Amino acid sequence: MSILTALRPLAQLFFPPICLSCQRQLSPSEPMICIICHAKLDTTQFHEHSHDNTLVRRFWGRLHLEHAMAYWFYRKKSPVRPIIHAFKYHSRPQVATHFTKEYAERYLNKSKMMADIDCIVPIPIHSSRQRKRGYNQSAVIAEALSQHFQIPWSDNWVKRTVATDTQTKKSSSFERWDNVQTIFEIPKPELLNNKHILLVDDVITTGSTIESCGVSIREATKGTRFSILGLACRL
Ligand SMILES: [Zn+2]
Repeated sequence: MSILTALRPLAQLFFPPICLSCQRQLSPSEPMICIICHAKLDTTQFHEHSHDNTLVRRFWGRLHLEHAMAYWFYRKKSPVRPIIHAFKYHSRPQVATHFTKEYAERYLNKSKMMADIDCIVPIPIHSSRQRKRGYNQSAVIAEALSQHFQIPWSDNWVKRTVATDTQTKKSSSFERWDNVQTIFEIPKPELLNNKHILLVDDVITTGSTIESCGVSIREATKGTRFSILGLACRL
């Protein structure tokens, strides 16, 4: 037993775990958020129609998708927001791991989608941002999916070459798309030929980054097919 594991009960005595959303003290049967906030999480149910849903349709004419899945809708005042913030901005990657496993056990196990996936690619973030945060939150989700479904993943198959901090300052959507279009490179495209790739992002919003990443892979490889998965999506 490591010293940290040994000290955990003592630490919990002084710092009992609290709900990520409402800050109420949690019972041992309530990991991360309380049962009341958990019931408020707005699940998409996309797993019931993973080949045809609003998220798939968002990519029509941009990137052909076999399936698209997201655990929750990301809405104002939803407990989804503090969950995402915890692993994205407050150095708690274990929150992403926990909810990815929960998503897998509750819904993805029943979906036909995962059985058809050959490999998992997290959307890369720029190395300067990763150094600051200590990890890529999409890679944390990809790794948890990989462990659960025994599907290979890697953050070396696709690399991000340019930071896109200027993106929000661009005025039109065309300029935004143009700005992210050239930022991905595929160091060894032969590794991805003829694969059905699951692109993973933490929150899917406009989809322009996923589109750019998918198009970069498609142009560098042969016979690739794509599906996407996010913990949340904003539609
Ligand atoms: Zn709560």
